Amino acid sequence: MNKLDKKKAVTVTLPAPHKARVSCPICLGNKCNVCKMTGELAIEVAPKIPIQRAHIIKYVVENIHEVAREITRKYGLTPEVNTVEVAEINDGQFEIVQISSLGGVCWVVNRLDELDTPRYFTSRQELDKFKQGWMN
Ligand SMILES: [Zn+2]
Repeated sequence: MNKLDKKKAVTVTLPAPHKARVSCPICLGNKCNVCKMTGELAIEVAPKIPIQRAHIIKYVVENIHEVAREITRKYGLTPEVNTVEVAEINDGQFEIVQISSLGGVCWVVNRLDELDTPRYFTSRQELDKFKQGWMN
């Protein structure tokens, strides 16, 4: 196996703030009033640390409900809802609405030509079967 066969993991650098203790710059560790006679000062540092992107994605997938709620709260993002197709299936006319979100897509199918309960699909294959008139 040569070097090109190895896939390099994609990393993202993120700030990781934490409190650090440093030697007092006033008395150089000899204890003074500034460092309250400890010889040290507590400071906030924020080094950037590399995190493999796969870990971030794993976190998002495992916490999808909280992540989605935060995205809506902080950025105002909501799932995209749009009509993708109006189709004639068997003897009826149906509107196919796609809902796209971070968690994936699903479809709501509404009958347009007469009153009927909406249908919900979470799999493309099931939707395709319905469109081909296999289910009713
Ligand atoms: Zn000091």
